[in-house]
Amino acid sequence: MPASPAAASNGKSARSARSARSSASLVVDEQLNFLAQLHRGCFNDTSAEQSEDLLHEVVDKREAANLGRWKFDAYELERQHGYALLHAGFRIGTELLDEAGVTNFNLPLRGFLQEVQKQYHNVPYHNHVHAADVLSSCAYFLREDRRVSRIPLGSIPRLSAFVAAVIHDVGHFGRTNRFHIASHDPVVVLYNDQSPLENMHCTIGFSILRQPHSALFKKPFPMSEDECSGLEDSDFTLLRRIVIESVLATDMSKHFETLSRFKAAINYSESSNHDTKQDAPICSESVADRSARLVSIYLKAADIGHAGKPLEITRRMTIRIHMEFFAQGEEERELGLPISPLCDRNEVDIAGSQVGFLHHLVLPLYKAVHFFITSDELLGDCLNRLEANLSHWQSPNPCVTTGDIPHKHTSCDSAVASRAVFPQEQIVKLINGFDHQ
Ligand SMILES: [Zn+2]
Repeated sequence: MPASPAAASNGKSARSARSARSSASLVVDEQLNFLAQLHRGCFNDTSAEQSEDLLHEVVDKREAANLGRWKFDAYELERQHGYALLHAGFRIGTELLDEAGVTNFNLPLRGFLQEVQKQYHNVPYHNHVHAADVLSSCAYFLREDRRVSRIPLGSIPRLSAFVAAVIHDVGHFGRTNRFHIASHDPVVVLYNDQSPLENMHCTIGFSILRQPHSALFKKPFPMSEDECSGLEDSDFTLLRRIVIESVLATDMSKHFETLSRFKAAINYSESSNHDTKQDAPICSESVADRSARLVSIYLKAADIGHAGKPLEITRRMTIRIHMEFFAQGEEERELGLPISPLCDRNEVDIAGSQVGFLHHLVLPLYKAVHFFITSDELLGDCLNRLEANLSHWQSPNPCVTTGDIPHKHTSCDSAVASRAVFPQEQIVKLINGFDHQ
């Protein structure tokens, strides 16, 4: 019996909050079931166990030593050991979780990475190796941010960058938002056409973090009184906000908007005069706003950073992304849909589109990042390399032409669950072929 009318009223509101929560939870569960049907795996399947030995063995290997360096080659790590995202994530995640004061995270970290890696589809580009590459590049920006920035990110935003990089393309089907919207795919129904893929990546990522074997931080929604927690409520709230904002910002249709807001926040100027930085609006933003903005920019830069990697790496990535684009074009043709830009292999000039991509999208973003983090490493590793790659694509003999992109050799399957149109064997063959050239 309640001790007072106030307690009675509190009890009532607690009951109605509980009931609202359980109906919300029902909706979430239905959506998760829906997502599970779209994906190969099952969230609770932990059969892909990896041994501790495998995780520790890789740290001695050559490519693992390059994690967080600009020259890191994620496909080389994958070739040496497989499980590139698991290895990269374990190495980088351990450092950032330690730094954020999270303890006893070994098992849930492994569970989280295994589950996320499993939910990445076997598509040519947006697969778990791309996630490992983006994670390593993010670690590169986090290091330069800490080393050079006057307002470096705190430990929770740095940990958020890790989670965001790991999950940022999870469940990707190898098709663009435009394709999913045009083909009235089930995933666009769930997210009402608003950045459907990016919303789905967040949903899957946080769904995995709700599972008991991969609950790295805490349950997003309280499930029982004795649930252990790696983060305080307020820290988890901040992490969730930053992860969601930064993953949603990877939608390339938002690129110019995100970049122009960042430039305004840092008082960006094309001239080399950096004096105005002291009074830049970003300095007076709240820690949460500034952190979300910066992690979003670092994740975006990492996401398209393959264009500024050493040429042999950028060459593989260029082939892979065009394999996906052309497969989409072929499926669009079969479905009677308009063929998306860059997706018609009979029309695309790969070198020309790389020049446009570097000139209009990648270089302006990297110049803004370098304006904010005035680091010589960033200038030497990234900007100089981007300029060199730009010159390469403008040369008469670029390293990739349309003829280098393999034809899709299986028939298009319009079922969303079977979008992995290129078998792993073909991709491995392709990689090995490049290595021996
Ligand atoms: Zn990506």
